[in-house]
Amino acid sequence: MEEQQYRFETQVIHAMQSPDEMTGAICPPIFQTATYLLGYAGTGDNIVFNGSHGYTYTRTANPTTTALEKRLAALAGTEDCVVTASGLGAISAVLHTLLQPGDHVVAGDVIYGSTTTLFQEHFRKFGVEFTYVDTADLAAVEAAVRPNTKLLYIESPANPNLKVSDIEACAVLAHAHQALLAVDSTFAPMPIQFPNRLGADICVYSTTKYINGHGTALGGAILGNKQLLEPFRTYGVKLVCANPASPFNSWLTMLGLKTLDIRMRRHCEVAMEVACFLENSHYVEKVYYPGLESHPQYQTASRQMNGLYGGMLAFELADGIGGHSKLNFAKRFLTKLKLITLAASLGELDTLIEHPASMTHRAIPAEERLKAGITDGLVRMSIGVENPKDLIADLQQAFAAAEKD
Ligand SMILES: *Cc1c(COP(=O)(O)O)cnc(C)c1O
Repeated sequence: MEEQQYRFETQVIHAMQSPDEMTGAICPPIFQTATYLLGYAGTGDNIVFNGSHGYTYTRTANPTTTALEKRLAALAGTEDCVVTASGLGAISAVLHTLLQPGDHVVAGDVIYGSTTTLFQEHFRKFGVEFTYVDTADLAAVEAAVRPNTKLLYIESPANPNLKVSDIEACAVLAHAHQALLAVDSTFAPMPIQFPNRLGADICVYSTTKYINGHGTALGGAILGNKQLLEPFRTYGVKLVCANPASPFNSWLTMLGLKTLDIRMRRHCEVAMEVACFLENSHYVEKVYYPGLESHPQYQTASRQMNGLYGGMLAFELADGIGGHSKLNFAKRFLTKLKLITLAASLGELDTLIEHPASMTHRAIPAEERLKAGITDGLVRMSIGVENPKDLIADLQQAFAAAEKD
């Protein structure tokens, strides 16, 4: 309880961390085990198997994973957290656990590519209906709600164009229609934004990204109140999706979590410098970064992102540079980079860059892709923690080399 009074920078180091009871180890041990000694509990007709130490089998619960769950819940200020084997596993568990055939979901039109595939290819088969709308436009969200709408699903900032949705307003809207609000906050982890505090019922993370932060383990997390999360623990994650995190991955994620605050502040600082450079570059038509006043939802971002705007940005290349089409220029430019790494993931210490139209969002039909603003000239960057001057110099030399090519 006392921990609640500490500031985030202190909590991220100490919250729900206690030395190992048996050895005094400060860094928590990894319980690399599947099975636990069983005891008996109850009497008479009531005799039930029970793990004598509270654990029975790692698909149900594991002490290393429990330690991570407790730390994440304490940091988010939520009653509970359930950790999964991947971010997509967390999203899958949310829909599997909360929805039934015939239910309707209003989802953002710009969301993680594999999330769209999961909704369209998998959940529609089981009778769940989806409407995709611009969730930054509340009137559009309101108009999409139906009597059977059970879930409003948003990503903010969204992948890949950094669109920001007003989480608080979306929560009010969802609740007015007896629906739940789930927010994928992967792009803006703590301490940038706390969706549950803004009224979201569920917050999901791909911990693979910033929370782990080092690109060493897949993972996902679902945060919310105890009552809402209970079926995930007893049913959704344990049985239906059967996708608990491995003890080693939970441990690696916990290790990364310790530096989340210092990493995020650095990511934000470097990203702002790179965004300003790009905004002034004639090779670039438009920059999407929530911290720029030119961002369409700058006001909303300033309200809900705690004065930090994250490490993700995207930009639209200018047309006709060196006589090239946007697609050709994008391809040439990306191959000329020397320091910045071409890779699909994000949230790591190294700066990563990718081309959504040909990489992460290639599965989406061109027409829908373009409608959502994922053009041939859109480039997405996950800004690392390097010196921004070196990143800017690399971008500049790659632009110039691609122009001449
Ligand atoms: C990566 C990502 C996911 C999926 O997470 P995995 O850990 O790769 O399964 C979901 N949402 C967003 C926004 C992501 O960036």
